[in-house]
Amino acid sequence: MFLHVAVPVPGLDLLTYAVPAGVDPPAVGARVVVPLGSRIVTGIVIARDTRPVSRAVDVKPVRQVLDSGSFVPPDVVALAQWTADYYAAGVGDTIPALLPPMARGGRADAHKTLRMASITPAGLEAIAASEVEGRQLEGLQILSGSPAGIATSVLAARGIAASAISRLARRGYISLRHDRVDRDPLAVSPPTAAVGTRVSDTGQSGARVVSDPAGAPRQLTEEQDAALGRLLALISAGDFRVALLHGVTGSGKTEIYLRLAAAVRGRGRRVLILVPEIALTPAMAAVFRDAFGARVAIQHSGLSDGERHDQWQRIRRGDIDVVVGTRSAVFAPLEQVGLIVVDEEHDGSYKQEESPRYNGRDVAIVRGRQAGALVVLGSATPSMESYHNAMTGKYERIVLTRRVLDRPLASVTVVDMREEYAAEGPDVILSRALRDGIRARVARGEQALVLLNRRGFATAVFCRQCAGTLECPNCSVSLVIHGEGHARRARCHYCNYTARVPTACPLCAGPYLEQAGFGTERVEAEVASACPGARVARLDRDAIRRRGSLATLLAQFGDGQIDVLVGTQMIAKGHDFPRVTLVGVVSADVGLGLADFRASERTFQLLTQVAGRAGRGEQPGEAIVQTLYPTHYSIQLACRQDYPAFYERELQFRRAMKYPPIVSLVNTVVRSRTFAAAMEDAGDVVDKVRGVDNQLRVLGPAPAPLGRLRGEYRAQLLIKGTNRKQIRERLQSALAARPDLQKRVVVDIDPLTVL
Ligand code: ADP
Ligand code: ZN
Repeated sequence: MFLHVAVPVPGLDLLTYAVPAGVDPPAVGARVVVPLGSRIVTGIVIARDTRPVSRAVDVKPVRQVLDSGSFVPPDVVALAQWTADYYAAGVGDTIPALLPPMARGGRADAHKTLRMASITPAGLEAIAASEVEGRQLEGLQILSGSPAGIATSVLAARGIAASAISRLARRGYISLRHDRVDRDPLAVSPPTAAVGTRVSDTGQSGARVVSDPAGAPRQLTEEQDAALGRLLALISAGDFRVALLHGVTGSGKTEIYLRLAAAVRGRGRRVLILVPEIALTPAMAAVFRDAFGARVAIQHSGLSDGERHDQWQRIRRGDIDVVVGTRSAVFAPLEQVGLIVVDEEHDGSYKQEESPRYNGRDVAIVRGRQAGALVVLGSATPSMESYHNAMTGKYERIVLTRRVLDRPLASVTVVDMREEYAAEGPDVILSRALRDGIRARVARGEQALVLLNRRGFATAVFCRQCAGTLECPNCSVSLVIHGEGHARRARCHYCNYTARVPTACPLCAGPYLEQAGFGTERVEAEVASACPGARVARLDRDAIRRRGSLATLLAQFGDGQIDVLVGTQMIAKGHDFPRVTLVGVVSADVGLGLADFRASERTFQLLTQVAGRAGRGEQPGEAIVQTLYPTHYSIQLACRQDYPAFYERELQFRRAMKYPPIVSLVNTVVRSRTFAAAMEDAGDVVDKVRGVDNQLRVLGPAPAPLGRLRGEYRAQLLIKGTNRKQIRERLQSALAARPDLQKRVVVDIDPLTVL
C-alpha cells in the first residue's frame, strides 16, 4: 500500500511513501514520520492507495506510524485538501492550522499532570494517635481537610516540603497520584460549576430559555425574535444553508448566536464560532461559557502551546460542544458540526496573508457544506461579496435594523477639515468640535474613543532644501517617525528597518529637515494636552507588542481606568464598552487614497463600525468624523449608516471596473532583485496565461503599488474572469513552465488587497 502524505514544508505537493510489510496501514488523518531528503519530518496521511507496492518503483517507506486511527478527523483532512487546491497552495501549508503545536513532534499525549497527595485512613489515625509532629503533622492536618487531595505544589507553597511529603508517603499516611489537567486558558475559577445550568438541552424550546446574568430569561426584541425564528427553521431543516445576519451595531447578534447554539446542541450537534481577532475571543467565549459551562473550548494562536494542545485534544475527544476561535479554528477537530457562526464576517483578519492564503469565512462555508450545517455570517457592514450573495438569493438575508432596548444609533457629525484649517491654521489635528466633545465627556465621567488608522508620531520627514524625503532603503515607502525628542526613531512599517532620525538631509546635506503628517502617537499627545488631567492611552500594534498588554488595556478601559483611548482600527472592532459616548475619527480618509479596489468598502466599514462603538449603554452616543473629502460617498453614507445605499453605489463601481463580486480576481506578484527582471518575469507569466485563445482578462505586468519591499522589486498581474477554476488552472500551468519562479511568486486567489 502507498500513502500520500502532506508534510509541513512550504509549497510541497503530496509525497508518496510505502507502508512497510508487517506494519498496519494508518488511516487517513494519521500522523506518520517520514524521511524527506536528509531530514525526518512528521506528516499527515491525506490519502491511501491500496495498490501493492511494486518493486520497480522507488518509494521510500514510512519510518513510523504515530496513530492507529485518524489523528486529524477525515473531514478536516478533506477540508484542508480543498483549501490547498482552491488557494493554489501545497497541502502541507495547511498543517500548522490542522495540528496543535506539540503534535507535530509526535508527543500527542503530552498533557500536564499534577501530583496530588491525599490522606489515608492510617494518616487520620496517626493524627489522632499523635504519631507525627512538625511539618509532617502540619501536612496531614491540611490534607485531612481535603479528602479529594491537594496538589503537592500547593502543599509546598504552604511550607510542606517535598521531603516531608515523601516521608509521609513512605509511612503510608498519604497516597500520591498523578492527575491529568487540561490547561484551560479561560479558567479563572473552576469551570465545572456552570455546566448546563443556564441552557436546557431540550432542543428547540430549550433554545429560548437562555437567561441573563440575573437569572431571568432575557426578552428578545421583536426583530431578534423574528430573526431567530427564521434561523431556527433553517436548523430544523438540517441541511447546509448560509444565512447573512445583517444587524446594525448593538442589535444583539450574539444573543441570537447563543440561542442557535443551544438549539443545535439540543439536536446533538456541535457549534463552531469564528471571531476575527484574538482579542475578541475571551468576551465571546465567556458568553458561551456562561451558558454551556466547560464544554466550550477556545482555539487561537495567542494561546500557549500547552493550552492550545489541551484544548485541541478536548475537542478531538468529543468533550467539547462549542469551539470559539480565530480563523484557523475553522479546522478544529470537531465532529457533528451543525452550526458555524462567522462573526464580523467582513473583517480582513479572516484572510491569512501567507500560504495558504485562505479566507476563514469562505472555508467555513465549505465546511458547512461538507457537514450539512447552517452557516451564519454576522455583520453590521457585510462584505460586498456576502451581501451580493444575499441579494442574488444564494444566501438567506436576515436583517436587524435597530439596536436593543430602543437605543439610538450614534448621531454623526462631519467636520470639513478644510474649513478647520482656514479657521485654526494648517497644523490642527483635533477640530474644535472634537476637542470640545472629548473635554465634555471627560468632565462628565464618560469615555471617548479616538480613531486614526495610522501609527507613529509623524508619517514623513522631508527636506526643505531639496524636497527629498526619508525613505526606507529596502522598501518604496517613507519612514515613519516614532517617539519624540531623544527617543525619536525612523521606522519602516513593512520591513521594520529602524534608524536614528538624521539632523541633516541624507541627499543634499541641508539642515532643514521637517516632520510632516501624523499618526496615533501624535494624536495621543494632542488629546493629552487638550484635556489636562484626562487619562489617555493608546491602542495600536506598537502599544501591544508585549504579550497580554492588549487584554490589559482593554480591561482598563472597560473598568473606567482610562478616559480616552486613541487607536487604530483595533479600537473599532466588536468591543462593547457601555460608557463610551463619543467616538472621534481624526482622518476618515486615510484609506481612501490607496490604490486598492476595496478602499471605499474598507473606509465605509471602518467608519460605520467605529461609530457603532458609541452609545451602547444608557447614554446616547455621538460620532465626530473629520475629513478632507466630506462629499465622498463612503464617508457620507457611513455617516448616515446607510448600508444598502453604499452597496448599490459601490456595486456600480465594481461593475464598471470589473472587480469582485462581479468577477473573480486573482493577484499574482513576482519578485526580483531588479525592476526589469521582475517586469520581464511577470510579463512572461501574463503571456502564458493569455495563451492563444485570449479568453481571460489579464492586466499587467505592472509595477505593484508597493513597488519595492524588503529589497526586492515587485511586479504584478491581475487575472479577472467568471470561472475561478479556469483561472487557477491556466495560472498553474503557466507557473509550471517556469519552475525557477516558484520561490519568487505569490498567488493570491480572492485577494482582499492588491497592494
Ligand atoms: P452586536 O453584536 O449586534 O453589535 P451585541 O450582541 O454585542 O450586539 O449586543 C449588544 C448589547 O445588547 C450586549 O450588551 C447584549 O448583552 C445586549 N442585548 C442583546 N440582546 C438583548 C435583549 N434582547 N435585551 C437586552 N439587552 C440585550
Ligand atoms: Zn522597509
